[in-house]
Amino acid sequence: MQREHLIKPLLGHKYPTIAYGQGVFLYDEDGKAYLDASSGAITAGIGHGVQDIIDAMQEQAGKVSFVYRSQFTSKPAEALAAKLSDLAPGQDYWSFFVGSGSEATETAMKIAIQHWQEQGRHGKNKVISRRMSYHGITMGALSMSGHTLRRRRFVPLLEDFPVVAPPYCYRCPLHSSYPSCGMACADDLETAIRRIGAEHIAAFIAEPIVGAAGGALTPPPGYYARIKAICERHELLFIADEVMTGIGRTGAMFAMEHDGVEPDLIALGKGMSAGYTPMAATMVKDRVMAPILQGSRSVMAGHTYSANPQSAAVALAVLRYIEQHGLVQQAADRGRYLLAKLQQLAGGIPIIGDVRGKGLLLGIEFVRDRATKEPFPEAAGLTSRVIEKALQKGLLVYPASGAIDGVGDAILVAPPMVITEAELDLLAELLEAAIREVMEELGAPTAP
Ligand code: PMP
Repeated sequence: MQREHLIKPLLGHKYPTIAYGQGVFLYDEDGKAYLDASSGAITAGIGHGVQDIIDAMQEQAGKVSFVYRSQFTSKPAEALAAKLSDLAPGQDYWSFFVGSGSEATETAMKIAIQHWQEQGRHGKNKVISRRMSYHGITMGALSMSGHTLRRRRFVPLLEDFPVVAPPYCYRCPLHSSYPSCGMACADDLETAIRRIGAEHIAAFIAEPIVGAAGGALTPPPGYYARIKAICERHELLFIADEVMTGIGRTGAMFAMEHDGVEPDLIALGKGMSAGYTPMAATMVKDRVMAPILQGSRSVMAGHTYSANPQSAAVALAVLRYIEQHGLVQQAADRGRYLLAKLQQLAGGIPIIGDVRGKGLLLGIEFVRDRATKEPFPEAAGLTSRVIEKALQKGLLVYPASGAIDGVGDAILVAPPMVITEAELDLLAELLEAAIREVMEELGAPTAP
């Protein structure tokens, strides 16, 4: 066999080779079809092979693909920033464009710190985050992340930023339960601020719904309104990491709308270009930009590909497509349909402990014993087995387990927003078959 040169996630593993995609299906070189129930990495929100986007791509490529942002601005980049602001809560955001979600959160951190520096408050430079969170793979983003597995090798090189309790109601980290808990997990932020001192803290960052590090952990209504009030009380900026939830997926353009919250900064990625081009954004409220505009008038952030017209034109076409086809409402409607289907599945499958999420960002947590919530031992590799079995059946779902972070085994089910009810029926059918086969392999009881 020829030697390999491409570093893939698991070295030595044989991955199928993609040929093409259409709608919610992907097809490999052997002609096998896959129902993309994870939108790749919760990215391909409008499905594959959409002609409008291909047309926009070609049109811009025919004009100019790249200019450097210190030499030119471009109509697509200007229009994209204006469009994002129009769609966002409060409609008063600036945007800085980058190429990935990690860059978007890291840039948000830097702008938050700069916001305070411009006012002479140089001590405010820590960022609080939550355990069981993921904000990206670069060192700054990883410093703000609670994803133990992804941090572990680099811990000595990371900033030791403070973390607070995640809103993980199924296994409450504070051993309480909603609603009698009074959302003590939100108040944990205030406790941390008091202990550290607000004069040392620039911002708090959170994913509206925790994705890869928790399997669609969804806080109770009002949680983010409480968080925002705490941030305001102590002069912290609130960064919403909407890289996974952003642009429609949860049944709202921005997931923060569910709680009526206008974040100070928003990180976007994945769904904003739906995978048609690497494109991400850090959105910044007027009031956060104000001291920078009055001060150095320059945001200390970069990246060669920032705001390149090619990617901007593609992302703009994606946003227009989402609007024109009513995909936000569709994500809400189809999400309710899928949630009901998965809950129905759970009724008959004893190893499903919890089904959660919003819109088309849903999570399933698996347990060995539903009554005690005892997880499967790590050695059973349950999540990998489910993913692998589903793949064999032509169904793609996304792993979200983090045994060391307190969640056992979980997957994300997050198909493109264009999925039909018939395709959701097929999704549920394939998923049930995959889970049942894994249960048989493990000798788990197959009836509740
Ligand atoms: N934030 C969140 C919430 C994410 O889900 C991800 C990616 N899984 C990132 C940041 C990092 O994005 P990227 O992989 O594009 O760097």
